[in-house]
Amino acid sequence: MRPKVAVVGFPNAGKSTLVNRLAGGRESVVHHEPGVTRDRVSREAEWNGVAFDLIDTGGVDLADDDDLARAVQSQARTAIDEADLALLVVDASRGLGPGEADLANLLRRSDKPVVVAANKIDGVRDEPLAAELNSLGLGEPVPVSAAHGLGTGDLLDRVTEVLGKPDAEPIPDEDSPARLAIIGRPNAGKSSLLNAWLGTERAIVSPTAHTTRDSIDTELEYEGRPLVLVDTAGLRRRAKVAGTVGYYSQLRTESAAERADVAIIVCDASEGITAEDLRVAELAMRTGCATIVALNKWDLVPGEEAEARLIDARRRVATKLRQRPPVLTSSATEGRNLDKLLAAALDLADRATQRIQTAELNRFLADVIAENQPPAKRGRRLRLYYAAQIERRPPRFAIQVNDRGLIDRSWAFFLEKRLRETYALEGVPVIIDYVERSGRHRSAADRTGSQRSKHRL
Ligand code: GDP
Repeated sequence: MRPKVAVVGFPNAGKSTLVNRLAGGRESVVHHEPGVTRDRVSREAEWNGVAFDLIDTGGVDLADDDDLARAVQSQARTAIDEADLALLVVDASRGLGPGEADLANLLRRSDKPVVVAANKIDGVRDEPLAAELNSLGLGEPVPVSAAHGLGTGDLLDRVTEVLGKPDAEPIPDEDSPARLAIIGRPNAGKSSLLNAWLGTERAIVSPTAHTTRDSIDTELEYEGRPLVLVDTAGLRRRAKVAGTVGYYSQLRTESAAERADVAIIVCDASEGITAEDLRVAELAMRTGCATIVALNKWDLVPGEEAEARLIDARRRVATKLRQRPPVLTSSATEGRNLDKLLAAALDLADRATQRIQTAELNRFLADVIAENQPPAKRGRRLRLYYAAQIERRPPRFAIQVNDRGLIDRSWAFFLEKRLRETYALEGVPVIIDYVERSGRHRSAADRTGSQRSKHRL
């Protein structure tokens, strides 16, 4: 069976021209289907020894914008149902419309791999226009010019690469319930917290235990919101090695955090935040999990010391942990702050799925550049042209720069810190890719040697 590639997009995006380019003059097969505005055309194509069919979903002619968007969506839906990959063609010279965002949502939910072609990029000077399509959240767009035949080799590389990997990871369902892991040193109070949460009337525990390979998760509704507590069996089956993160606890920490969106790191407040606690947090962060620190057994902290201890703990966390997780207090035995802790953990799960608008992100970038001038080496300064969020859960950003070699650690940390502060991403993992755009045309300010470069992106 030859794999099928559905070519989708709005009219005038250049779908047919692109299909002609990609198919390279091969025969087209016209499918006559009753009820379809226009026939769908499939064309045979081959690249790097991979043969596949390109299905042009055809055009739709409707005057009304709403009807048009709906027609394009339904056509795309039909096409991708029977395809192995969707090729979304966007007219990048025109920018993104709301219709494209909806179409991208539909494609993201389809679980089929998607390749985005940023069409009408007729030269290197238009390339920054392609980067805007990063905000569709469907991966890095491939700039092409169907009319001039530019970039089609790169596009075919990408398409055949994805087709060659039939088990490509599906994009995770962003609406699935938040998954929380309760981790920490032995005796910190993890089981007590778990039982306290499961014991309240606010929690409705699902009768069907959710069993994965070797651990049991608990599904529940807490104040009406569905969530999953990961590896609850591992919590009950406790292997206690006093004082240290034993081999078993480390394994459990990693496997639980790997499957969770948020890890609640439970610490024993009577001992403060220890080096072992920080190690547990690091382990969780390395799996790409969001983190929050619970200073449990807060009832054991004398009232007159409480404030100073909390300030101290927060400072320690902020200086030692790059993700800067929030620090909350709790008492499992006295039932204090338990709702607040869970609400804060769920809030982190939500933040990990947020999408920051491209325009907003570029205003942020301008502010960061104005506040702290990017580094320079040998008279050449780091320039940051454009930022876009390209993934969520966890948030991933692409920032276009002139030269990655100019980035220094402290400046990159500064930017990351500001990003967390500005968008309440403390405790949320973020990935920042610095992408080099050497071919970008120079702006007027560059050519005239203007020093007023602070706000230029
Ligand atoms: P785990 O090993 O992290 O699961 O810890 P456990 O939940 O088994 O708790 C260890 C011990 O600490 C038990 O004796 C609990 O009763 C006690 N404990 C747990 N949470 C609290 C708390 O908030 N305050 C106090 N005073 N004791 C607690």
